Amino acid sequence: MTAIPQERRLVTAVPGPKSQELQARRTAAVAGGVGSVLPVFAARAGGGILEDVDGNRLIDFGSGIAVTSVGASAEAVVRRASAQLADFTHTCFMVTPYEGYVEVCERLAELTPGDHAKKSALFNSGAEAVENAVKIARSYTKRQAVVVFDHGYHGRTNLTMALTSKNMPYKNGFGPFAPEIYRVPVAYGYRWPTGPENCGPEASAQVIDQISKQIGADNVAAIIIEPLLGEGGFIEPAKGFLPALAKFAKDNGIVFVADEIQSGFCRTGQWFACEDEGVVPDLITTAKGIAGGLPLAAVTGRAEIMDAAHAGGLGGTYGGNPVACAAALGAIETMRELDLVAKARRIETVMKGRLSALREKYDLIGDVRGRGAMIAIELVKDRETKEPAPEATAALAKACHAAGLLVLTCGTYGNVLRFLPPLVIGEDLLNEGLDIIEQALATV
Ligand SMILES: *Cc1c(COP(=O)(O)O)cnc(C)c1O
Repeated sequence: MTAIPQERRLVTAVPGPKSQELQARRTAAVAGGVGSVLPVFAARAGGGILEDVDGNRLIDFGSGIAVTSVGASAEAVVRRASAQLADFTHTCFMVTPYEGYVEVCERLAELTPGDHAKKSALFNSGAEAVENAVKIARSYTKRQAVVVFDHGYHGRTNLTMALTSKNMPYKNGFGPFAPEIYRVPVAYGYRWPTGPENCGPEASAQVIDQISKQIGADNVAAIIIEPLLGEGGFIEPAKGFLPALAKFAKDNGIVFVADEIQSGFCRTGQWFACEDEGVVPDLITTAKGIAGGLPLAAVTGRAEIMDAAHAGGLGGTYGGNPVACAAALGAIETMRELDLVAKARRIETVMKGRLSALREKYDLIGDVRGRGAMIAIELVKDRETKEPAPEATAALAKACHAAGLLVLTCGTYGNVLRFLPPLVIGEDLLNEGLDIIEQALATV
């Protein structure tokens, strides 16, 4: 499927001399506020491999943050996007529309949970989709308050910074933030004081009490939650939490928004993570995996809610760009043809099997969690106190990078090593990546 040999290969140190040269140019020309996990400059990528300018081939356990689920050069994405590129690059959908945009919205209506009438609007980035979900929910409910969660991440624009939980690096010094945002606890089983088995019911009761007493349910436009929290540490809300909140929202006329920007499009072994407990959100935000690497995002939801905003109230110059739409149709075609839902489940089986065995061996691994190809280990200094181990996490990531495995960290406490391989990764590469993690664990 891809021209790049699906083999890890190290021909220089990581980063190599060409990457270091480019890094020097970058430091002079690119704003310091833009970071990089690993200063290795990409030359090409596909399947489970990222090749750098020095000719090193790294195993990719990051997918450009859960974006290239179909690989970074999937045949159908390249074919469809190239054809569209040759036809026209842009008209602006708000000036003269084109079929690709409509077709993406039709696919979204089919693929997202629930058999009610659905509509979509397309945007450029995840943050923009979340902002628009808030606009739509406020317009529909004529209310203002928005409820979000501890450890939640929703983007870097002003409104989405306010929705995001973590100060560093996302918010520090960038205020003032948008008003009418309220944060409540999330059902984080591993760290719930009375244990994971009590977490779902206790956390949902606490959240509902807090919303009722502190905000007033009648003032709440939207509850926004990631059905499997991404940047905050790959936290799966304990069972029962999401259904209880969805019911509370329904009973109180609140728009329930699932932010599936990271967890959507087959990533968790289902098309969308909220399907796991049969939750049907009123609105769902998507981006990342939707278009095989091209910038595209969407808000999809109940037709009557999506139609609440006045004509001209939603949009943007580039939203639903025709090349990005063509890429999305190619990505969706690939997900269906290669049954990437099943592939993600297989990745979970392999990863969880091996990581759970490592947890038996190393006390450093406090928790192994996640679903599909969205798996993480949370590292702690002490299994009793669960004191986070961010230094060991950084050291582990560094050792993996040096050995040619691209991994990412996350978590409010910086102590979660997360794995987001492309869903098309071969099982041999997947196991080789896990071998590298195992060897790295032995050294830290
Ligand atoms: C990445 C992410 C966003 C922001 O998306 P951008 O495209 O970076 O703006 C929002 N929500 C979640 C859950 C994300 O993972």
